[in-house]
Formats: sequence, C-alpha cells, structure tokens
Amino acid sequence: MSENQARRIAAESPQPDGVPFVDLSFQYAPLNDELRQAADRVFASQAFILGQEVETFEEHVAEYCDSRFAVGCASGSDALLLSLMALDIGPGDEVITTPFSFFATASCIARTGARPVFVDIDPASFNLDPAKVEDAVTTRTRAILPVHLFGQCAEMEPLWRLAVRNGLAIIEDACQAIGAEYRGRRAGVLGTLGCFSFFPTKNLGGAGDGGIITTDDAELADRLRRLRMHGDAGGYRHVEVGINSRLDALQAAVLDVKLRHLESWTASRQQNARRYGELFRQYELLDVVELPAVKPERRHVFNQYCIRVKGSRRDMLLAELRQRRIGCTVYYPAPLHLQECFRDLGYRPGDLPEAEAAAADILALPIFPGLRPEQQEAVVRAIAEILRGQDRRTRPVRRAA
Ligand SMILES: *Cc1c(COP(=O)(O)O)cnc(C)c1O
Repeated sequence: MSENQARRIAAESPQPDGVPFVDLSFQYAPLNDELRQAADRVFASQAFILGQEVETFEEHVAEYCDSRFAVGCASGSDALLLSLMALDIGPGDEVITTPFSFFATASCIARTGARPVFVDIDPASFNLDPAKVEDAVTTRTRAILPVHLFGQCAEMEPLWRLAVRNGLAIIEDACQAIGAEYRGRRAGVLGTLGCFSFFPTKNLGGAGDGGIITTDDAELADRLRRLRMHGDAGGYRHVEVGINSRLDALQAAVLDVKLRHLESWTASRQQNARRYGELFRQYELLDVVELPAVKPERRHVFNQYCIRVKGSRRDMLLAELRQRRIGCTVYYPAPLHLQECFRDLGYRPGDLPEAEAAAADILALPIFPGLRPEQQEAVVRAIAEILRGQDRRTRPVRRAA
C-alpha cells in the first residue's frame, strides 16, 4: 500500500510551473547535515534493528505525546494490528470504526478475524459521530477505533463514557495527528493505545516506513514489545505468536532529528490553513466551497487541508486543477464499507450517507510546511477561475488585496 501511495504522490509532486501537492524538500534541506550525522552514527554502530537509537526515539515520542510508554514498529498499519493483538481481539469480536479513513484503519480489524463495524461520520469534522457509535455497541463489541482524521481529534468524551460503561478499549488511529490535542491532551493519550505512522508524508515522516504505539499501560507496552518480535519473551522462548514488525535504527535516528522540528512544521501548517481561510474569503468562494471546521477544544495539526466542493463539481474541479498543474487529491474517494474486500460484511450504498457524501465532494489542497503564500494564492485563484467560469450567475472574481 505504501508503495502505491508513494507512487501517486510522486506523480503529483514537484512540477516545473504549478504548485506541488507535497514537497518534502523544505523539511530535508535545512536538516541535511544533522540527518547525515545521524545516519553515520548508525552505520558506525552497525546496529540496524531496534537498539539504542530506537529506545531514545521511543522515549522522545513518549515525552512529546505525554504517554508513559512508546513502542516502535514497522508502520502505522502494524501499530494498529499490534494494538488489536495486544488486546486479544479476534474472531467473534466486533470493533467499531469509521468508514471514512485510510484502508489500514479497517483492514487491521479484519486481519485479526474480528468484524469491523462501520459507523457514519460527523460531516463537519469527518470524524466518527459519537451518537451513532452508541447505537452500534453490541455484546460482541470489544473496542472503538476512532481516527483523528486529517490531524483533528475525534470527539472523545462521549466515546470515553461509552467505553467505561461497556468495558471497551479505545484504540486511537492517530496516524495523521501527531501533536494534535483534545482538551489540552495530546493524541496518543486519549485512549488505551495510540497508533502513529511515520510514512514520509505524515506530519512526522521518516525516510521510509515506520510506526509507533503509545500507551500508559505497562503490561500492554511489554506485550507489544514481545508481539513485534514474534512473541519472543527473550532467549527464543516464544510465549505467543506475534509478527515481525520493528522500527529500524536508521529510521529512528532520522525521526529523532525531525521530531525536534515538528512543532515549527505544525505551526507552518496551521498558518497555511489560516491563510487559505483568508484567501477563500477574499475570493468570495465561501458559497461554493466549505472550508475545514476546527471544532472547539481542539488543536488541529492539518496533516491535510480538505475542502468540500458544493454542487457535484468536485471531479470537474480536480481535473481542471490538475490540468493547470495544481497538486490536489481526494482523501478518500471510496468509503471503506463499500470496498470490494468487505463485500461480505453486507453494507450497501446509502447505508452510511455522510461518509458517502464526503467521498463524493471532498478535495485535499497542498498544505505542506514551506508552501509559499503566492503558491496558496495560485491555488485559490485557480479554484475561483474554474468554479466562477462554470457559474455565470455569480460575481466575477476579485483580486485579493
Ligand atoms: C497513514 C495511515 C495509516 C497507515 O500508516 P502506514 O505507516 O502507511 O502503514 C493508518 N491510518 C491512517 C488514518 C493513516 O493516515
């Protein structure tokens, strides 16, 4: 999956005269020397898997998220799978999650033999609608797996109450949300376990795949450390069947350097989001596009900036923007409950209307740290020209002040 995603990103990335959807060079160039020193240190040690580099990075992530423990693994997808395994979730169990997310959110549940139970989203935040989660709880429900989509935390308080009342675990899919907060608490400490991805385009991206799980529970942390090493309790004594999912020392060394800059990159993403807000207002586009809503008591870290295009014009806009070399993409074009591989779960089009509507009208714009104001204006100007060109009844586009 990462390969496809990477290929797609490469195809959408730097173009000679347009605006790239993502450009990671801004995060790399200033850190070149530091990153090389970190890599040299790993080569000098010839210790490539787990070890001191990984332990140091795990400590720093735990500190950053304010969790007691952090356990590195090979990807965000594995972080989710390992979390479910550590909770002994399997055949006969149900896990409630969102249909509007990256595939791994649901595939990890299916992989354990448990059943993903999809609950519709809140159309303003694209996150799980907690009122609907309540209706989906059965005697088989073992866990709730909310996603903090696009970098904004899900509505956790009602989920906590449900979890306590029904004895459920909460696994946060925080892969897009490192540094995000809900009521002043960081993503990763808002549930039983928090899962993060270091896929290169995430807010904290490695030089390849990587992931980590945060928890305050010492027993779960120990179990995760064992599960990521084939259930090895030490000395090749396998007390259970785990998987091979470890964080490389090279990735940990690179990520540890980058973690020190995460706050400044997050500030840049937030500033870009504010600037889009101003530009869309100046270009008088608020009647044709809906901007991302930041919910109260949240710190949104804008892994993605997704607008909604009103009036069934998303696909036209996407095609026209690409024509003009403006990078943009759709997260996510198909909700998970309608994926072919989940056909046996029995969902039909129309079952989860908010997720289906979002899939049809959402559009992600460039938001990466280092995106320049004039690039943002080029994006918004192009959107104005395209949407106004199609709609003669509305006023002509005005230049921003
Ligand atoms: C990226 C992502 C994952 C998976 O992470 P990988 O490291 O690519 O395996 C899972 N869930 C969400 C919401 C993601 O964005």
